[in-house]
Amino acid sequence: LFITLEGGDGSGKSTQSGILVEWLQNSGRTVVVSREPGGTDLGLELREIVLHRRGEIAPRAEALIYAADRAHNIATKVRPALERGDVVVQDRYLDSSVAYQGAGRVLGGDEVRGISLWAAEGLLPDLTVLLDLHEDAGKDRLADSRTRYDRLEAEANDFHGRVRAGYLQLAAAEPDRFLVLDARDSVESIAAAIRARVESLPTS
Ligand code: C5P
Repeated sequence: LFITLEGGDGSGKSTQSGILVEWLQNSGRTVVVSREPGGTDLGLELREIVLHRRGEIAPRAEALIYAADRAHNIATKVRPALERGDVVVQDRYLDSSVAYQGAGRVLGGDEVRGISLWAAEGLLPDLTVLLDLHEDAGKDRLADSRTRYDRLEAEANDFHGRVRAGYLQLAAAEPDRFLVLDARDSVESIAAAIRARVESLPTS
């Protein structure tokens, strides 16, 4: 059983991942937790580069670094765990790339999805939980900023708006794989909705 969590920054993915993992473990399942970028040793090095490198990374190079992180994580951690019969709960997967690099950086969703599927040898999750964060939530966080930052804020909001729209488009195209929840709902009601969906999975 392979479950991924997706959503914008601050949508509550790690909180929900922690609650889900604890519940699965209490139900007697062995759970492997992973994340992208940075689920493996190599992934941590790639995460450092892609998130903290000083200076420019060309958009296609960025997309390929995420794909390299993904390829290694799937081949050395996720697939072996699934073959053992463990449950894998992962923070972000290929939908992040389609939303961030495809829609956000405008590289094109189909191309980025193709690269991701090649990297992951076609592995798709059984369930992808999308914690949909309304753009207003992002704006609220920026509300204290001064007006001299307006241009940058506008760019950032535009980017995050494209990412959100990209995610919602993916979820609409694959309704069986996706569970879309409003990230503004309470932690407990989101957790309960995720549990209900996991319990209903044929593979669970
Ligand atoms: O979820 P986490 O905080 O670990 O993600 C780190 C950053 O990497 C986030 O700001 C996210 O926007 C970005 N990211 C990305 N493309 C991906 C995965 C993550 O831009 N494919």
